[in-house]
Amino acid sequence: MKRYVLPLSMLAIFEAVAITMWLTQDNIFYLFNFSYIGISISLGILLFIKQYRYARRVAQLLVGLYMLVYLGFICGENMQIEGFWYYLFTGVFEAATIHYAVAKIFGPLIFGRGWCGFACWTAMVLDFLPFKVPQTPRRKLGWLRYLTFAMSFIFVSAVFLAQVGSLEKIMFWAFIIGNVVYYAVGIILAFLFRDNRAFCTYICPITIFLKPMSYFSLLRVQCDKSKCISCGKCKKVCPMEVDVTDNSRKRKNGTECILCFTCARNCPTNSL
Ligand code: SF4
Ligand code: SF4
Ligand code: SF4
Repeated sequence: MKRYVLPLSMLAIFEAVAITMWLTQDNIFYLFNFSYIGISISLGILLFIKQYRYARRVAQLLVGLYMLVYLGFICGENMQIEGFWYYLFTGVFEAATIHYAVAKIFGPLIFGRGWCGFACWTAMVLDFLPFKVPQTPRRKLGWLRYLTFAMSFIFVSAVFLAQVGSLEKIMFWAFIIGNVVYYAVGIILAFLFRDNRAFCTYICPITIFLKPMSYFSLLRVQCDKSKCISCGKCKKVCPMEVDVTDNSRKRKNGTECILCFTCARNCPTNSL
């Protein structure tokens, strides 16, 4: 029963958010939305526990496609960071603002960067590329994320200040074009650096929120030193080059852990 605590806890957290949002916003959509995401993520974790090889992919596709295709393309909600700024500026607490608050700002205090491992629609595609672990040394390009973060903020501010009409339409097209650019840059970088997650490591503006918040994450992979035989397998298979054998919060690349559990699956002594 102990092994099912994690998926059940995730489901409980999302159901609590779903019911709270439904009742406070008087909108049953939130009950459906957060229940669906919670069930999808919990199912992914459950399948992982059952040692299904593609467990994480199942969750990524279920959540990622729902957000990209249904919320983004069909409902016309800009769920990217530009959408977050947009709804923040208009003072509307819905769609992207709620999504960011739950998945990317306050949620990571509980489940770290679980969003990046189990739900992100950008990584959903990038994870299909052939470079599961970085095959070239890491570059000092982390500053690029501040640039993309600033660019997204400046873009939405400029659109607001210019007082152009049909803002909704602009934000919809910004979502389409933004995603095309993200996928193109992500795929090019993956092949250039031989690293599927190069986009996440250097470019993604959302890491400005994710990294500091996940530093304090309640849920994190820990190493049982009494069982560890220092074989180094966990570091070899980690897509984010995290030194997971170091239990301190300051461990190398610790705020980049996407909770994919690849290290735990490959540990020969079940130390993780
Ligand atoms: S770092 Fe950005 S692109 Fe990568 S998985 Fe996380 S949110 Fe998605
Ligand atoms: S794979 Fe397991 S045993 Fe090997 S170094 Fe990592 S934690 Fe230790
Ligand atoms: S392999 Fe382990 S340490 Fe690396 S990102 Fe996945 S869960 Fe985190």
